[in-house]
Amino acid sequence: MAFKTLDDMDFAGKVALVRVDLNVPVENGAVSDTTRIERVLPTIRHITQAGGKVALLAHFARPKGQRVPEMSLAIVRPALEAALGQPVGFAEDCVGIAAKRAVAGMAPGDVVLLENTRFHAGEERNDPELAAAMAALGELYVNDAFSAAHRAHASTEAIAHQLPACAGRLMEAELTALDRALGDPVRPVAAVVGGAKVSTKLDLLGNLITRVDHLIIGGGMANTFLAAQGHPVGTSLCEHDMADTARAVMAQASDAGCTLHLPSDVVVAREFAAGAAHEVVAADACPDDAMILDAGPEAQAAIIALLGTCRTLVWNGPLGAFEIAPFDTATNACAREAARLTAEGALTSVAGGGDTVSALNRAGAAAGFSYVSTAGGAFLEWMEGKTLPGVAALGA
Ligand code: ADP
Ligand code: MG
Repeated sequence: MAFKTLDDMDFAGKVALVRVDLNVPVENGAVSDTTRIERVLPTIRHITQAGGKVALLAHFARPKGQRVPEMSLAIVRPALEAALGQPVGFAEDCVGIAAKRAVAGMAPGDVVLLENTRFHAGEERNDPELAAAMAALGELYVNDAFSAAHRAHASTEAIAHQLPACAGRLMEAELTALDRALGDPVRPVAAVVGGAKVSTKLDLLGNLITRVDHLIIGGGMANTFLAAQGHPVGTSLCEHDMADTARAVMAQASDAGCTLHLPSDVVVAREFAAGAAHEVVAADACPDDAMILDAGPEAQAAIIALLGTCRTLVWNGPLGAFEIAPFDTATNACAREAARLTAEGALTSVAGGGDTVSALNRAGAAAGFSYVSTAGGAFLEWMEGKTLPGVAALGA
């Protein structure tokens, strides 16, 4: 991977267009979770401290090329100012007169937030003219929005070809962590893939079996594999129509030298409810009226033992229906073990996915992982082995 970082650029006196992810949750007119804002602060501060001027480019919600007042980035400005500890200017458009005026008024160290890029239809079309209008505002381009890098949009892709471009700190951290996990990992490498469905993660499974030594399958996805092996799964979440696909994945894994691990025992219940009566049965003995909601204790112990033999772990998808106790047991135990091995220096651990991040937070294990990606779709596409246009445009 070769891409420029902030350290390769001279920001003094220059206007840097910085693409960030400010697509934060809003409740009652105010930002309710500032995680995404906090994560882009190091990049903004690096540039302002170097005497640069920061013009922030970002999308917010899905206005679909229209100017939708409720989707104005102005709502994010107070939270950004509070997090940054300095005033942030605002321009009512990301191109044209309003943007030019705001940028022209900046002194070194200043920050201005440009209005939602998706107010322009050209953004999602990756329109080079829109990109040129944005590029005309500054002298350098910094992309710190890995989470938007799977989309070839004017502010993530086209613009990177029009100005000297580099990755921001968050993008750099994400790419470095992902490369350590799957690009050039220390072996053996294990992948945990769980979650709800095989059908949403086929490309991901297809890529992983060519890259990892051990593929641990859990969650609802494991039910589909168990059914494909001819085992009863009762009323479990299961995609019976994916049986052939699951068998093909098993055959490909074996050809690729990747060992596939399915649970040997499972936790079943008659209903999916907190505190529902539950029992442990062998993976080939799910009663007709029961559903599999978690990996069993024997399967959990096997995963923990396997992690102890691996040097790298990449994880997407919980091992069970983790939202409701006690069906979070295997996920919690394995996540905590991964964190413990990481703290010992024995394991590099990278995880991502919306529900996976929630599950690791619930387990109190997220901070113990080497890297937890909050990038959602971009993380999944990376796990699928796809080229991310926003990353490729940086020359990475
Ligand atoms: P991510 O968002 O991290 O990519 P997914 O969306 O694929 O993960 O999967 C998470 C969902 O899978 C959770 O809602 C969880 O309850 C569900 N799930 C996991 N195991 C089971 C199971 N055995 N039965 C039903 N749902 C399950
Ligand atoms: Mg999900």
